Amino acid sequence: MLLGDDGLLRPTIFAEMSALATASGAINLGQGFPDEDGPPEVLEAARRAISEGVNQYPPGMGMPVLREAVAAHQERFYGIRVDPSQVLVTAGATEALAATILALTEEGDEVVTLEPFYDEYGALISFAKAVHVTVPLRAPDFLPDHDDLRAAVTDRTRLIIVNSPHNPTGSVLPRETLELLVELAHEHDAILVTDEVYEHLTFGAAHIPISSLPGGFERTVTISSGGKTFSTTGWKVGWLVAPPPLVAAIAAVKQYLTYVNAAPFQPAIAVGLALPDEYFAAAAATLAAKRDILSAGLAAAGFGVSRPEAGYFVIGDASPLGVSDAAEFCRALPALAGVVGVPVTAFVHPDRRAGFESLVRFAFCKRVDVLERAAAQLAGLRSAR
Ligand code: PMP
Ligand code: GLN
Repeated sequence: MLLGDDGLLRPTIFAEMSALATASGAINLGQGFPDEDGPPEVLEAARRAISEGVNQYPPGMGMPVLREAVAAHQERFYGIRVDPSQVLVTAGATEALAATILALTEEGDEVVTLEPFYDEYGALISFAKAVHVTVPLRAPDFLPDHDDLRAAVTDRTRLIIVNSPHNPTGSVLPRETLELLVELAHEHDAILVTDEVYEHLTFGAAHIPISSLPGGFERTVTISSGGKTFSTTGWKVGWLVAPPPLVAAIAAVKQYLTYVNAAPFQPAIAVGLALPDEYFAAAAATLAAKRDILSAGLAAAGFGVSRPEAGYFVIGDASPLGVSDAAEFCRALPALAGVVGVPVTAFVHPDRRAGFESLVRFAFCKRVDVLERAAAQLAGLRSAR
């Protein structure tokens, strides 16, 4: 999956699909990034920081103002009390994940993830020469079976990467499942790594961080970023929160990855994290309405449609349209309907594609008029059959 015929790493599916959208002029519902700017206070804070000369290397662990804001955010939203010294600022959640996996695994260690999984996990696990063990998520609810989790986590497990809210399916793990994961981590001396980048974009049940559960914090690396919450994916301001020995081990690796990044954007994201509750509620509500618009359009076009509880994406099952290979279908979709989506098989190991072959991930984090236009164009698919 990672390597092309030439033996080199292939471009990610997101880069490939965005290039396809640019080349074809199709609407890009592939790569998950919003097409509208985030809160003006946050944008203004970045402009101000640049004017005030916040333009050189920030401290290796991140700027104190942001580390304090992350600590305050964890307490305000989840009741998790942490000291800012337990916060490490990173170049997006991407770098937090990379540094964590590289720091905490050795060759042959097992790393458990859900499947489908965000592509970076597979790449980094392979860079670390660790062994990737997966637990399947099946339609319609895309939640893991508890017996599958029990079978996957063993004494060989070093890390359990938990992505909730989940990309690509939009599922949100219920409390019982999170509690089981804490129990399994204790039983098998594993470390939990949580990818919570969609933490504020939930449409029903609230997000529960594993580190807020009894016994959770002491063996969890909590990862998030400002990209989704504040519609600033290009700023790449992320962070992790963990007990001190884990923070130290991960920071030691991080200093050789980017060392530091995004000086003027760090205080701006700190402003965002302190915005009033109404901002966070409105961001989720706006996105839920967009989910509904795109979902209705997909259903009208003949797709089977999942019901994401969070995040940026909805899964359309193209099998009612006679599609058995979503990868091929996604390559043809710009010509067929002027829309780009991502095949869910891109998030699945090549040997385990069964059950995912007809599924397409569509991003709904776009302007309403763009979603409506995409829906109208997709509606043509049904009549074209
Ligand atoms: N994890 C998940 C589940 C994601 O969807 C993404 C991408 N948006 C990331 C991590 C990377 O986040 P960032 O852009 O903050 O590096
Ligand atoms: N997280 C974004 C997505 O799932 C893409 C990030 C990337 O391009 N690596 O679409």
